Amino acid sequence: MHTSIASTPPRPPHDTAVRPGHITWNPWHGCHKISEGCRHCYVYRQDTLFERDAAVVHRTAAFNLPVRRSRDGRFQIPSGTTVLTCFTSDLLLPEADAWRPEVWEMMRLRHDLHFVFFTKRIDRLASLLPPDWGEGYDHVTIGCTVETQAMADRRLPIFGSLPIRHKWVICAPLLGPVDLSAYLDGSIEEVTAGGESGSEARICDFAWVLALRRQCIEHRTPFTFHQTGARLQKGGRVYRIPRSLQREQARRAGIDYMPADRPEP
Ligand code: SF4
Repeated sequence: MHTSIASTPPRPPHDTAVRPGHITWNPWHGCHKISEGCRHCYVYRQDTLFERDAAVVHRTAAFNLPVRRSRDGRFQIPSGTTVLTCFTSDLLLPEADAWRPEVWEMMRLRHDLHFVFFTKRIDRLASLLPPDWGEGYDHVTIGCTVETQAMADRRLPIFGSLPIRHKWVICAPLLGPVDLSAYLDGSIEEVTAGGESGSEARICDFAWVLALRRQCIEHRTPFTFHQTGARLQKGGRVYRIPRSLQREQARRAGIDYMPADRPEP
């Protein structure tokens, strides 16, 4: 593993195992920190570089991106695209309550896309859902972020009780050992784990990652180690890994798991 930090292109704060064929849609930008996982938030780090204040939440120029059309009348985002939604904020942020109904409306209209969003505010979802949500929109995946056991025990009971068709658990940045066994009841489609990025990144212990993997195997839940983070502890040694290699090093670990009878999503 490498021991220097290289500069790399920006990536979303909730970086995870998203696959090729996707675009990012940030209808608003800016956020407020609410738990330990937010301490070195990517949005804040990036905005500081550009002398912006990430705590100022605002609608972006891309607000209506999913429903924009080209001159020939077709939608600019082609059918079948995965749309990573609100990756420079949190879709359930209170400051965005007035804007969110339009977002639901755009999602409803573009049922030919696959929307994915991650949140640390899952406790707010029930009161914010659109009237026709029912058991969930089939083309919307929601990831609940849990960076510690305390956050898992706070957020996942709520997550488990909600009508959501496609649920992921995002253990990133992984800040300690987390036992998800009580929550892997078959409703979770995927667990992903990753370390923290940035020059101040906290250590991610590979043993924590392997423990999550074991839990997923025991409960036949797909698991992805999507990136190592900048400081990975393994075998009593801490490795500094440049951002450009964090995904590749995780992939090379070869520990992703897919139950034999479940197709790749
Ligand atoms: S919820 Fe996400 S975007 Fe918001 S401050 Fe925390 S890490 Fe940053």
